Amino acid sequence: MKFTAYGGAREVGRSAFILEEKNRRVLLDCGVMLGEKVHFPLFPEGMERGIRDVVVSHAHLDHSGYLGQLIHNGSRPAIHGLKPTKDLIGVLLADYHRIGKNVEFTEDDIAQVNKRFRAYNFRQEFNAGGFRTSLYNAGHILGSAMTLLQGSKRVLYTGDISMRGTRLLDGCERNLSADALILEGTYGNEELPGTKASVDKLIHEIKETIKEGGHVIIPSFAVGRGQDILFLLENYMRSGALPHVKIYMDGMVKKAMKIYRQNIPYTKEEVQKRVLMSSDDPFASKHFFVPKSKDRKDVLAEPCIIVSTSGMLSGGPVLLYLKELGDNPKNKLIFVGYQAEGTRGREILEGAKKIMIDDEEVELRLKIAEVRLSGHAGKSELLQFAHGIKGLKKVILVHGELEGLEALARNLEKDYEVEIPSVLEEIKI
Ligand SMILES: [Zn+2]
Ligand SMILES: [Zn+2]
Repeated sequence: MKFTAYGGAREVGRSAFILEEKNRRVLLDCGVMLGEKVHFPLFPEGMERGIRDVVVSHAHLDHSGYLGQLIHNGSRPAIHGLKPTKDLIGVLLADYHRIGKNVEFTEDDIAQVNKRFRAYNFRQEFNAGGFRTSLYNAGHILGSAMTLLQGSKRVLYTGDISMRGTRLLDGCERNLSADALILEGTYGNEELPGTKASVDKLIHEIKETIKEGGHVIIPSFAVGRGQDILFLLENYMRSGALPHVKIYMDGMVKKAMKIYRQNIPYTKEEVQKRVLMSSDDPFASKHFFVPKSKDRKDVLAEPCIIVSTSGMLSGGPVLLYLKELGDNPKNKLIFVGYQAEGTRGREILEGAKKIMIDDEEVELRLKIAEVRLSGHAGKSELLQFAHGIKGLKKVILVHGELEGLEALARNLEKDYEVEIPSVLEEIKI
């Protein structure tokens, strides 16, 4: 068996891996790397047309964002994944098409992605490029899956995983059996703070600002963290641990919430139960609001909590709020997700007091806070996960910076054969 990374090796972004042997061949994920420039997977000239099967682990664009371009370039693949992934990709690709720079693929290509998508349930067996394939809960976002492929050997690809679970999702499945593991290592060199400590900090920061009569702005990714935060706040408000103010959702978070609601069977049992007892449907919570007007007058009028895209302040309504609320020291901006190099979010975290929005200089006098709430597994969780796989012989580390992957490798080497492939390097399994 042969494994080749065309992106997502020794880097985070543009995940695209080919697994093949004799008459079997499948592409695992098909993402882009978003930053100041968009980077595509490094497929050699002419290769894309030959791609017949893609399994998509989850909807985040670093795993799915190249699907439109792949079809634009002449590939006619069957796309395999869970039902919520299909729904979320539709929204995320359309958004990427709308706001992305130099996007070549068309709305027709997006329609093709939707048409070619074959949606499955957890554990349902299907054929992907000749491999007997099934998908298991990865605990990362709605519809995120680990992919188990059986050819002459069993290979498990994690995609992005989280062990902890959230208000909405159970943690990833453990103790599967596989000969080889393709493991993500986003936080390979870092222990993440416990969920409880992070949540306590978030609640404390919000209470403080509400008490002072300020607005809380939480920039969030459209899918994943946004819903986790909204449900967390709803929980605390319902129990009285947070004062009753309006929780506004704005931008793509809003659209993604609808898709979460339509895919309730993929959330954890506790959420399903609440939805079924319609008097307590958390999606219809009386604490959630959406802005009534384009100028957001209602949101700006009174102290409240705003959860809005985009997560790194690269666009979206969150910028409008920053313009309107940024100069008041009573207000607070709370970061809950990773801020990449070169983004406004990172600039502010590193202490910038003035930022540019639409050629306008915006002075920032509001308070800044950071709370780590990750949808990924930390170092020891990743190690624990690998050690739980039965029959495991080989580990291939991807989706991480080299330093983090090497730290993981040092801890896995005594028990397994470990590889840290570069992009375009062939690995034997
Ligand atoms: Zn992800
Ligand atoms: Zn990812």
